[in-house]
Amino acid sequence: MGNLWLGLFTLLQPAVLYACPLPLLGVSADGDLEFAEVYLEKFYNYKPVTGRRRRAAEPNLFQAKLREMQHFFGLEESGNVDPQTIAAMRSARCGLSDVEKFRKTMRWTNRTLTYRISRFSSKLTAAQVRTAFRQAWKLWAQAVPLKFRRQRKSDADIVISFNSKDHEDGSPFDGEGGILAHAFFPGPGIGGDVHFDDEEAWSTTNAKGKRAISLDRLPPKTPDKCDTTLSFDAVTGLQQELIFFKDRFMWRVHPSFEQIGITLITSLWPELPAHIDAAYENTNKNTMLVFKGSQYWEVSSLKVKHGYPRNISEFGFPSTVRSIDAALYLRERRLTDFFIGGECWRFDEDAGWMMEGFPKPIAHEWPGIDSPVDAAVVHDGWYYLWKHFLSF
Ligand SMILES: [Zn+2]
Repeated sequence: MGNLWLGLFTLLQPAVLYACPLPLLGVSADGDLEFAEVYLEKFYNYKPVTGRRRRAAEPNLFQAKLREMQHFFGLEESGNVDPQTIAAMRSARCGLSDVEKFRKTMRWTNRTLTYRISRFSSKLTAAQVRTAFRQAWKLWAQAVPLKFRRQRKSDADIVISFNSKDHEDGSPFDGEGGILAHAFFPGPGIGGDVHFDDEEAWSTTNAKGKRAISLDRLPPKTPDKCDTTLSFDAVTGLQQELIFFKDRFMWRVHPSFEQIGITLITSLWPELPAHIDAAYENTNKNTMLVFKGSQYWEVSSLKVKHGYPRNISEFGFPSTVRSIDAALYLRERRLTDFFIGGECWRFDEDAGWMMEGFPKPIAHEWPGIDSPVDAAVVHDGWYYLWKHFLSF
């Protein structure tokens, strides 16, 4: 159920995604050390010993906790507050502990969930927030067997609020950067509620006059709770459907069908590989293109065309481009944007070549989105750009 928040974060993005890694201007090593201590207390159950025992007991305990954190993030387990470690600590993250156990069985028992926005953002209008959530629920309702209903009064299953600093739930926010939001597991009362740090620069970004949306990003290696159990390799439209790819599977979501189908990719397309990188639908040509590594396949009339896979160099990518993170077809302009690392490449579908001047930094073409993208799709006139999924 935690994955619910994928949709929310799809729609709200802090314009400043990272508090890190700051070009440590004026930040002393002491500042880093203090920051690391507070971080380990917050997320690794580090309980510093105070008083006289401190000096004797402290260093080992601190280093042990630090190693635990470094292990969690896949960093070198040096036990030192090195630049990589401090950068990981200063990254935007979810507000839950990395080590605290949580009960796996917590889940919603009803299929219709009510939500209420009890406190709005100071950076967005109420209408923007409402629209963002409405769109998020809509997308979610298509992917999970749940319905979401807004409730104006009284307690709702999911109460959403924007708060700053201490907001009396024992998990104070930390100002801009760092923790962006936290949510509580399904349950009564505060259960299911979602709090956003109001001091983040939340925005719904405009890109080329369209509403562009992006997802929060966590440090690249954050397993467990903050990591994704429902992340996608690629997402694309296909005629009336939305198709979400993940590992060997795909979810086919049809707007007018209640149920969603999960199937093996190969059950429909035996020619396609697992773990695909990117996919997009060229709605003008009625084809879907699927990418993995330096190869791509074209699917037309629900069949993989003969003669595939072919090499992505045909799009004009140099041999240095080994794989594509995400692709998005811009229907009106008949252009396709490919996201590769921090760069965006734009392909002219009619001309059949890469447009001049590309690649450009993603943020240049997609304001507010300043880091790599995992998956992208156009749906109902909204662009959904996934970064690393944030789910609780
Ligand atoms: Zn809170």
